Parts: sequence; C-alpha cells; structure tokens
Amino acid sequence: MSLFDVVRARVRIASMVNRTVLDPSATLGGLCGNDVFLKAENLQKTGAFKFRGACNALMSLEREEGLRGVVTASSGNHGQAVACAAARLGYSAVVVVPVDASPAKVAAVEGYGAKVIPWGTTSLERLDKASELVRQEGMTFIHPYDDDRVMAGQGTIGLEIIDDLPDVDAVLVPIGGGGLLSGVATALKGIRPGIRVYGVESERSNCMYRSLHAGKRTPLERIATVADGLRTTIPGERTFEIARRLVDDVLLVREEEIIEALLFLLEREKLLVEPSGAVTVAALLSGRFPLRHRKVVALLSGGNIALDRLEEFLAARRR
Ligand SMILES: *Cc1c(COP(=O)(O)O)cnc(C)c1O
Repeated sequence: MSLFDVVRARVRIASMVNRTVLDPSATLGGLCGNDVFLKAENLQKTGAFKFRGACNALMSLEREEGLRGVVTASSGNHGQAVACAAARLGYSAVVVVPVDASPAKVAAVEGYGAKVIPWGTTSLERLDKASELVRQEGMTFIHPYDDDRVMAGQGTIGLEIIDDLPDVDAVLVPIGGGGLLSGVATALKGIRPGIRVYGVESERSNCMYRSLHAGKRTPLERIATVADGLRTTIPGERTFEIARRLVDDVLLVREEEIIEALLFLLEREKLLVEPSGAVTVAALLSGRFPLRHRKVVALLSGGNIALDRLEEFLAARRR
C-alpha cells in the first residue's frame, strides 16, 4: 500500500464521504503546551472514520463480486460502515459482531439493512465465523483493518490533514488493529517524512505496543478496556509491518484518562466522541505526549456511544 493508493482512494470515495473539519482547540493547546487541532471523524458518515475504508474497499470490487454480497467481522463501527456503504452501492451485507457488542452499534448496523450475526467475544473468533460464510456463501470478506483497500481509504484522513495544516508537526492516531494508523502514516510520511506519527492505545488493550517492543506480532490474553473499538487481540500482518516502518512511538493511556478526555471533549469542545476516539486527547491531557510548542493533530476517530454509557461516565464523575 502506497501514497498513490491513498490518493486514488481519495478520488474514488470523494462523493461518498464527508470531508471532516480540522478544528483548533486553544483550551487543549494551553493545557498541553502545543497548538492542538482536532480532526473530527466523529462527524464522518456512520459516526466513524471506518466509512472511508469501507467505501474504498467496496468501490474497488468488481460489480459481480459485490453482488454476491459482502461479509465482515467488527465490534461495530466497521460493521456499520460496511453495511452503509453496501446499501448505497446496492450490495447485501452480513456483519459478525461480538455477543457483547453495544446495542446502539448493533441497531445501527441493522438500520442500514445488513444482517447481524452475534458470535464470540474476540476478534479471532469473529474472523473465523466470517471466513466460514465466505466459503459457504461465496460472499466477499472485508477485513476491518488488514486490507490495503481499507487502509488506503482510512489514509485519506492524512491527505486532508496536510491540506488544512501544511506545516503539521505531529499526528496522534488511535490504534485497534492498526488500519487507521497504517493508512494515515503512509499518507503523511509519503508526503513529508518529517511529520511524526504517534499511535495511541489503552494500556489495557496494547497489542501494537507490545508487538512493536517484542519485534513480532504478539497476541494479548486479556483485553478489558472501555474503548470498545480498540479491543483487538493481535495487530494485522500488514498493519504491523507498516507500523514498524513508519510509526514514531506508541503512547499508552489509562482508562480514567480516556473517560476524562471524552467528557472534556463534550463539555469544552461540544464534540461527542466515543472512548476509542478520545484516546488521542487523553494522551495530550495526561502529559504522555512528549513534545511541546508544536502543531499537533489529535484524530478523533469516532462518536458512536450509547447514551446510557455516557450517563454512567457522568454519574461516576459525580460520585
Ligand atoms: C476501528 C476503530 C479504531 C481503530 O482502528 P484500527 O484501524 O482497527 O486500528 C479507533 N477508533 C474507532 C472509533 C474505531 O471504530
């Protein structure tokens, strides 16, 4: 996957996706000693950046391939994205979700007209179930991150960041399986290698951090983070290789810091961001981000959160 793939993806999906805003945040900047800009992919169609990758993957299919239907495995946002993109292109979609997926996400997938199959709790279990459907039904599998077309679609965010902020110094990106990070890093470093790219994970779901430090893809045994979009057992083969080559560092944040960042974004920036999307701001607020006096972009990857979840976070803060 190259910068050229990302540029082509941008043209391919332009009519389908929102070009999201890059908003300066003086408050956050003052708190962390940088010029901070928020890339609001929580305002992307379907509520998360995953719509970009899904559109690029589905629009890259041969028509007859698409007409056999698409299937994916996802904790929610990729499922919603594939379901919505498929509906717009006139393809049918099946989405395998974990049995404990948030009801809001499942309802949204079904709302786009896709069929939902609840299966297992880990990404590996869901991937197995999805490949079974590929074998039995002849559908096309759309991987949530370890697919060049998906990564290239996510990478279009990097092109928009450089357009809006040509002298950007550093970009913080949430990591689940690493597709978003790989795409964005390929775009940014392909245009200007000096831009620093930092991945951010929850310390309780840190498979990329561990894998990079071990020098090989390393599975996690236990994942218990509030950031449900980042619950990945092991980085992708492709995403790991790209991350190894292009990522400057991976920062880890604590659970309380993620929730604090989410509430900060809601109260101060008027942005509703889900826990997975708030980890980048958590890295800035907690002081984990190592640089000062730079132009820094925090990517807010999504905004899909059930309101009762939000209520729990607010209640916990009052106690
Ligand atoms: C999927 C997702 C991520 C992680 O993206 P990967 O490509 O799996 O690394 C981050 N935030 C949100 C909101 C997501 O839905």
